[in-house]
Amino acid sequence: MPDCIFCSIINGSVASDKVYEDEFVCAFRDIAPKAPVHILIVPKMHLRDVSAVNAENSQFVAKCFEAAAKIAESEKVTGGYRIISNNGALAGQTVFHLHFHLLAGKKMSDL
Ligand code: 5GP
Ligand code: ZN
Repeated sequence: MPDCIFCSIINGSVASDKVYEDEFVCAFRDIAPKAPVHILIVPKMHLRDVSAVNAENSQFVAKCFEAAAKIAESEKVTGGYRIISNNGALAGQTVFHLHFHLLAGKKMSDL
């Protein structure tokens, strides 16, 4: 998708600190971390948000969570981590390519 920062990171035209990549998923450190570990897990298909998920593309979402489990191991945060997805501007979404924040390394506040 032209003008999508996460598509540009996935295709390598914008640099990122990648921590995991496979056929379906790219994961990299957030540029403005809100916790000691703050990684964005991004499907390699441009989906705007959760409302774009359907039976044809949900494998990309499942792969994001498979990646999350691997990243929690490699980042040594299996003791506790939070996964957040902001959907829609009202929820705080600023990049309109579906993604999951993996946050860890500090005590998380209540929602
Ligand atoms: P959202 O607000 O949509 O839930 O999350 C978007 C996240 O992407 C934010 O936490 C923001 O810091 C991060 N972000 C925005 N632009 C870039 C970028 O160019 N590189 C990286 N690594 N993170 C970005
Ligand atoms: Zn995109």
